[in-house]
Amino acid sequence: MSCYFDEAISIANLNEKSIYIYGASVSGVSLLKYLDKKRIKVTGFSDVSFSKVGNDIAFFGTPVIDFDVLLNCLDDKTLVFLCCSSEKKAQHYQSVILEKCSEAQCVIINNYDEVYIDISGRCNLRCRSCQVANHHKESFSYSGRGLMSFELFCKILDKVQMELPYCLGVFLFNYGEPLLSPDLPRMIHEIHSRGMIAIISSNLSLEYNFDSLLIDPPDIFKISISGFSQKVYETTHNGGNIYLVKSNMYRIRMIEDKLKTRVNVVVGYHVYNNNQGAEYIAAEDLCKELGFLFQPRKAIFCNIPKQAGIDPFSKSDIEFISEYYPNSRDILTINQSKETISGTCRNALNRLFIDYNGDVFLCFMVMHNGGIYKSYLQTSLKDIRMWQKEHWICGKCKDIGFISLE
Ligand code: SF4
Repeated sequence: MSCYFDEAISIANLNEKSIYIYGASVSGVSLLKYLDKKRIKVTGFSDVSFSKVGNDIAFFGTPVIDFDVLLNCLDDKTLVFLCCSSEKKAQHYQSVILEKCSEAQCVIINNYDEVYIDISGRCNLRCRSCQVANHHKESFSYSGRGLMSFELFCKILDKVQMELPYCLGVFLFNYGEPLLSPDLPRMIHEIHSRGMIAIISSNLSLEYNFDSLLIDPPDIFKISISGFSQKVYETTHNGGNIYLVKSNMYRIRMIEDKLKTRVNVVVGYHVYNNNQGAEYIAAEDLCKELGFLFQPRKAIFCNIPKQAGIDPFSKSDIEFISEYYPNSRDILTINQSKETISGTCRNALNRLFIDYNGDVFLCFMVMHNGGIYKSYLQTSLKDIRMWQKEHWICGKCKDIGFISLE
């Protein structure tokens, strides 16, 4: 991590600047952690995807501020590091900032790598928006999947660090629930000992002992919810129990207080037709009470093979999408309505997806046998990148304009 950022911060008079970081991405959180270790003060951390943030929320001791607040602080001493998931987004926020104050300085952080490792090949829920539940059974089998061993995990990290020296972060999930892995705490510790950040995303709808996890916590702990009452939550988090989720959220906060530490918890609220209004407000209020960031997002239906016409939508998919998604028509007819896009997908440039057994996956939106490559340990990165760039599913994905471009 350090060699990557050393160059980025080699800026004249850095000590005289008011430094801000924009972007709750791997690079944004890595940079924040890096500057914190170097004892370089960051005035604020911001991202438009967070709902209006309370006063007491901080990431690694840096206040998380609303983007409007950041815009009102700009002057000729301001330096904003733009750490977005794509170059296009970074350029957009750069122009917003410079339009507001042309003397402010912006530095775009890009060209870093990230790896998704599905340490758990299993999930305890069957959300119908997720491919674990909605994959086409003739194209992929989710049954019989297991957990990644700690030994395999370490070998994968060895190879990642050799091949991708600019890998800043490891996502410990792809399709599975990471809390199902008994090795999660030591995997996070292993990532930290190698100078990278660890990100997990959990449905939190399970019994779990958080004490050992929070001693050396993940750098971003995402929690995925879609409602505040059981009646609403269970329609989209199928098989989940919101009382268990909420009690776990309280438990996390209690352990934070006991350990006198703060964990960077981000609650992702998937917005469907039936969970806006009172449900949304109650979930947001709970996050405020606990000091967690609330990140509402338009719910997506994860399944490129179905949307690209490779696999058929099932009757249950169509009913589900029609009832719960405001943009149901777009989802169901995307293969006819979008413009073709060309270029190389960000997933094939800077991301790697590794399954619980060590096999390479094409990307997180493709649960299909055609999207599984060879063992990561036995394949060169060059071959993997070639396979990703020329993949036939990506060709279909580009045809429907779904590709994730830089
Ligand atoms: S082009 Fe589409 S299918 Fe291919 S890696 Fe990108 S998002 Fe995934």
